[in-house]
Amino acid sequence: MKPILYIVIPCYNEEKALPVTAPMFLEKLDMLIRDGRISEKSRIMFVDDGSKDDTWNIISGLSGQDEHYIGIRQSRNRGHQNAVLAGLMEAKELCDITISIDCDGQDDINAMDKMVDEYLGGCEIVYGVRNNRDTDTFFKRFSAESYYRFLRALGVEAVFNHADYRLVSSRVLKEFADFKEVNIFLRGLFPLVGFKSTSVYYERHERLAGESHYPLVKMLALAFEGITSLSVKPIHLITGLGCFIALLSFVGVIWSVSVSLLGKAVAGWSSMTCIICFIGGIQLICLGILGEYIGKIYLEVKHRPRYIISERTYEDEDKRRDTV
Ligand code: UDP
Ligand code: MG
Repeated sequence: MKPILYIVIPCYNEEKALPVTAPMFLEKLDMLIRDGRISEKSRIMFVDDGSKDDTWNIISGLSGQDEHYIGIRQSRNRGHQNAVLAGLMEAKELCDITISIDCDGQDDINAMDKMVDEYLGGCEIVYGVRNNRDTDTFFKRFSAESYYRFLRALGVEAVFNHADYRLVSSRVLKEFADFKEVNIFLRGLFPLVGFKSTSVYYERHERLAGESHYPLVKMLALAFEGITSLSVKPIHLITGLGCFIALLSFVGVIWSVSVSLLGKAVAGWSSMTCIICFIGGIQLICLGILGEYIGKIYLEVKHRPRYIISERTYEDEDKRRDTV
């Protein structure tokens, strides 16, 4: 039996990019079907992440034109990771394999052939990995690579230079559904599910149309999310730092008592100020990091739904619950 593939594509305000890239995805899907790699029942599933422009109308229009296009709509914007999650959770009941990919045409769709082949060869997860970062600015390349290294150092098993272009089987997704956390960083979570996995290398291009939704601030927020939702090492680090500074302070106390006993104490205003500022700064940073984790716990215990699907372009036959 040929596997049913669902290509899951998050879209947020993509009215410019969708008309350009949707036919490319369809052509790829047709090719995979014609090659006999996947079933005729395979689909392209757009996930509208609460767009404010014409994106949903475009998706509805596409689904009327060709049965291979389908779409779901989130009740509001919840961010890229949640949009991908919504699509994957919806698709896992309907197909055998999913491939998640951005809708802007940056990721090379031709890597899908190899991904499907790897699946047919027995892999349950296939990571799409960029083979170079030539299209990035020096700053983006440097910061991204340092970030992956940092994640590794913190014990997070993120695949180097892999973003959210990946094939995941529905078998893995059914297990993944039990990862109930609200703070999600998908690329770091899938390695935790296990199963046989591999990587496929591809070249990443410039965005074909529209604009990026990840300015520096949002990118930093995602990077921070990755660290704090997958690793508690920063807390261990600040404990270590605290011990180190306590030790230094102890030495400092002995030194200052000895100096004053020897009668050599001088009014050291600037040294005192420096020490106070330094320790105060470090304490605030440590408190901030602890606060971030407490904030995460707060969000987790509320256990709000991670996505809510408000509309579908197809009949929801089995009337599954919309929220997870
Ligand atoms: N996206 C989304 N919700 C958001 C922001 C972005 O679904 O709140 C989608 C967007 O439509 C695109 C993908 O996530 O398909 C990646 O976004 P983008 O291309 O803007 O990021 P970049 O490639 O510049 O990092
Ligand atoms: Mg992009």
